[in-house]
Amino acid sequence: MTREPPEPLRLDYLIRAGAIHSMTGETYRSLGVRGAEIVAVSADLNGLDDLAGGGTAVVEAGDLTLLPAFADSHEHLMEASRNTLLVPVDKARSVAEFTGMVADAARDAAPGEWIVTSMGWHESNLAENRLPSLAELDGAAPDHPVLARRGGHLAVVNSAALRAAGIGPDTPDPPGGKIGRLPDGSRDGTLEGGAVYQVAAFTVGPDRAQLAAALGTGSAAYAALGVGTIREAMINLDELLAYQDARDRDLLRVRVRPMIRVGAELTEDAAIALIDGLGARSGFGDDWLRIWGLKFVLDGGVEGAALEQPYANDPGNSGHLNWDPVALTRVCAEAVRRGWRIGTHAVGDRAVRTLLDVYDAVVAQVGPLPPWTLVIEHGMLTDATQRDRAVRGGFGVTVQHPLLWNMGSEMLVTWGPERTRRVSPLDQWHAAGADLAAGTDIVRPFNPMTAVWGMVTRGTKSAGVQGPEHAISADTALEIYTMGTAALNHEQDRLGSITPGKLADLVGYPADPLAADPDDLAELTPAFTIVGGRPTHDPDKRLAR
Ligand SMILES: [Zn+2]
Repeated sequence: MTREPPEPLRLDYLIRAGAIHSMTGETYRSLGVRGAEIVAVSADLNGLDDLAGGGTAVVEAGDLTLLPAFADSHEHLMEASRNTLLVPVDKARSVAEFTGMVADAARDAAPGEWIVTSMGWHESNLAENRLPSLAELDGAAPDHPVLARRGGHLAVVNSAALRAAGIGPDTPDPPGGKIGRLPDGSRDGTLEGGAVYQVAAFTVGPDRAQLAAALGTGSAAYAALGVGTIREAMINLDELLAYQDARDRDLLRVRVRPMIRVGAELTEDAAIALIDGLGARSGFGDDWLRIWGLKFVLDGGVEGAALEQPYANDPGNSGHLNWDPVALTRVCAEAVRRGWRIGTHAVGDRAVRTLLDVYDAVVAQVGPLPPWTLVIEHGMLTDATQRDRAVRGGFGVTVQHPLLWNMGSEMLVTWGPERTRRVSPLDQWHAAGADLAAGTDIVRPFNPMTAVWGMVTRGTKSAGVQGPEHAISADTALEIYTMGTAALNHEQDRLGSITPGKLADLVGYPADPLAADPDDLAELTPAFTIVGGRPTHDPDKRLAR
């Protein structure tokens, strides 16, 4: 018997860089990629030269610092992609521009056709700093129903939309939702929580083929900002099929880890039946598209978060819970028994406390669970007791500085300055030993380095610096944005660091984020992004083979 000598390891890419931060404490100068994986690293710029062969692309990147590609722990890639097909009111800078875009769309639409806007807008970007009114939308589109969703929890509509959805003066608020009124009792055109879904159900959206194509364009925009993985924060089953279409057509430019929505409008039995009907469990899929788990929404956003103390601008209101805790406990326990991981939106401190009660009760019923099985999404307002309970229970937290960055001004109004300053105190979560994973939740491509800058400085878009004492180091910010999310996704053995044997998800920057002045990070964009050994962003063709 003779044995063939082992085939020499020939690299597809040999990258020589200024610095390569592994995010596990090492810094290298050269790195080798073969197929989808990192196969070799060296602290020596020329340490891997022997592995280069005729087919190896040698990338001279002495001007760049390499990091693991960013992994966003909570972002709505589906909505951000769909937004590219909708009325782009996120680009409006005044109410007149906003309603002008709606009027233009109505002019081009068939009679009675729904006009649906992008969700990625916010009134703080409008000169008037307020929502467009029902009357203004009626003026822009008297004959077409208009739905202008703003983020995940709020929408404004016109009279035709209320008519089309069968909402009259006496229609009751849906569970977990509110249909807004003016002081005289008439409708004001605002919808909150479940009311958004109640109206959105009447719209006709893009078909699956259009959605799959939009996911291609949408994911490429995130790749261009250095993102390698997105944990998709909420989709339904049709949208999961659109993701599968996009995967089959090789359109995705980021890895996606979807969460499937289990809505609060369902009865306990209907929710459990939905979960039974999925016929799969967490982890199903491949390296590009793998189901993360289930998504529950316990309270609202800045306007509807369930708070321990009333709203600063509305002393009679302390927000709302969408689920009865006993019902949520039963549904979560049944889901966990079927192999599902759960992420639950809890923004306000009353919601976080309620969720900790629910998760503790689930663990009491089903026994100990691996880390990142029961997850707190956001946990924006907490006290030390709640943070300790989360750590003790093994409940990780996904954190999103961009929400404070984007909505700090609204939080100052609704929650008041004291609560705004202590939104998502990453220093305290970190000191308590919490499992953290960083992300954005901003429903449009957002530069991860702006989020890192925000975690390091507590800076915001228009509310100044909020709670500078809660800043963390750039090193920790990068770690929870790479390793943290890899652990959240139960793939820390495959992703999250620059380590031989892991997937080659890399991003190269023209500055070293660990050495740079924090203020130089906010606008820093990558020279290239690689996912699974494939360039997903390479404007200067530095990775050309
Ligand atoms: Zn979200």
